[in-house]
Amino acid sequence: MTTLRQELERRTRDYEHWMKRRHYGPDGPNNRRLWVLACMDERLPVDEALGIHVDSPAGGGDAHCFRNAGGIVTDDAIRSAMLTCNFFGTKEIVIVQHTQCGMLSAHARALEQALRDRGVDIDHLTLDPTLPELRLEPGAFAKWIGMMDDVDQTLMRTVEVFRNHPLIPDDVTVSGWIWEVENRRLRAPRTDDARKACADVTSEQFGVTEPQPPRWR
Ligand SMILES: [Zn+2]
Repeated sequence: MTTLRQELERRTRDYEHWMKRRHYGPDGPNNRRLWVLACMDERLPVDEALGIHVDSPAGGGDAHCFRNAGGIVTDDAIRSAMLTCNFFGTKEIVIVQHTQCGMLSAHARALEQALRDRGVDIDHLTLDPTLPELRLEPGAFAKWIGMMDDVDQTLMRTVEVFRNHPLIPDDVTVSGWIWEVENRRLRAPRTDDARKACADVTSEQFGVTEPQPPRWR
C-alpha cells in the first residue's frame, strides 16, 4: 500500500513535468493536441460545452483556448492557431459559437457611428501600436468589427476559413459547434431555418434590420 507521502511525491513530480511541458518540444503539447476558438461570452462555459478541462493546472491542460467576441476569424486567431498547429503539436481545431450572441445584437454601422460620436477617428486608426504595419483601409472598420447576421452561417464560414488557410496544416481536423444558451447543450450548425428558429434569437429580434457589412454574408 502506498503512503500519502508517496502519492504526494508522485503528484509533485507529475506537476513538475506538466509545468515544464514546453521544454519537451514536440513531446510537450497540450493533453488533447487541441486548439479551441470560442466566443468570450460568459454564458458559454467552454469546459462544460466540450467536456474537457482547459484551465485547471494539474490534471487539466486539455487545450489551448482562444476567446474573442463571437469566436470568429481574426488575424490574432489565425496567428495563435498557426503557432499551436505548426509548433506545439496541435492536430485539432474546435470552434464554438453560441445562440443569443451579442455579435447579433447591433448593426456594425451603429457601433461605428457611436465611436465617431465619441471623437474616435476610425478611418485612421493604429489597431496595434506595436505593429503599425497592420492597417485597415479607410472604410473597413465596420467590417472589421465582425457583427453577424446569422450565427450558424458565421460558424460554418469560420470553419471553412480555418480548413483552407495556408497557415493551418492540411492534416488538422477542424469542426464547429453551437452552444445553445437557452437549453445548455451543444449542437451542430444548422441550415434549416425552421429548426434554427426553435432556439436561436435572430438579429431581427435584436432590432437589426439591415444586413451587416459583407464579411459573413
Ligand atoms: Zn457571443
